[in-house]
Amino acid sequence: MNAKAQELVRSHLDHLHDEGSALSEEQRLAYRQRIKDLLQQRDAVLVAHYYTDPEIQSLAEETGGCVADSLEMARFGKEHPASTLIVAGVKFMGETAKILSPEKRIFMPTLEATCSLDLGCPEQEFADFCDQHPDRTVVVYANTSAAVKARADWVVTSSIAVELIEHLDRQGEKILWAPDKHLGGYVRDKTGADVLCWDGACIVHEEFKAKGLDDLKAAYPDAAILVHPESPASVVAMADVVGSTSQLIKAACEMDNSTFIVATDKGIFYKMQQLAPQKTFIEAPTAGSGATCRSCAHCPWMAMNGLENMLAVLEADNGLGQEIFVDPSLAERAMVPLNRMLDFGQSLKK
Ligand code: SF4
Repeated sequence: MNAKAQELVRSHLDHLHDEGSALSEEQRLAYRQRIKDLLQQRDAVLVAHYYTDPEIQSLAEETGGCVADSLEMARFGKEHPASTLIVAGVKFMGETAKILSPEKRIFMPTLEATCSLDLGCPEQEFADFCDQHPDRTVVVYANTSAAVKARADWVVTSSIAVELIEHLDRQGEKILWAPDKHLGGYVRDKTGADVLCWDGACIVHEEFKAKGLDDLKAAYPDAAILVHPESPASVVAMADVVGSTSQLIKAACEMDNSTFIVATDKGIFYKMQQLAPQKTFIEAPTAGSGATCRSCAHCPWMAMNGLENMLAVLEADNGLGQEIFVDPSLAERAMVPLNRMLDFGQSLKK
């Protein structure tokens, strides 16, 4: 990540307020019940990411919402008949929901929940980068602002990134990729395509360390290593399976190993444990106290989604200012590459 982006991420992290709940068990249950009632009353559905806390994921499941990766969240939110979506994740996910469903009201427990990839790819710098390479097809990861998406030819998530770049490469296109350099490097290695990367990174995945992983593997020689491709190449190189959150969950269920070392946000353990209760999941090692993230292996912004702020937003008539709005002309432009992503993802299922 360039120095300016690093500074922006650091200053954002310095001002974060952890939702860190201090609710008693009785309060927790009361909050959950109240949220369930309000979701019904407000014709709202909860759409949560795998990296949110188990408390939020289980609530989404119990209320007919969804727990998914960002591609599936986008699809679910678009297709669900509810008039209001409560998006528990980070801001670009709320924006994506609004762009795809402009007629719906989209709220988040807090709009402060962002992403280092989004922060590290400001609209104007990115536009300049694109202008310097007019011969390239612009592919941006879903973890970007609406303005950056509006500048792109394609939006993509990690679950279909390799397939999309293969598809574009077959058509002879050269790629400009943003913002995650590790994922961009991974798809370049996998496909052999001509991929020029923006210098961005996820502060959570960037902290996974190959040396520590090597030591852990020595302690658990039979464990399979599952790695998200936002991790550094040295960590990806040690993986038995590299994939998006959904792909890693699938691997955890289908592989014969009884133990897994997992290099992605530990929020994913909730779903892995639920679907493969007899198996053991271990966090991949990070840089620990020397790390740049505040709570390694758990995204500090995902952690901001809690019962208290979700209830407060649902209780207030105006959503306490935590409603997502996207400029309509920007949304119209961003919808084009987003719909291409959804259609391409759908075509892979056929
Ligand atoms: S885990 Fe990384 S990529 Fe995901 S939202 Fe957090 S900072 Fe962004």
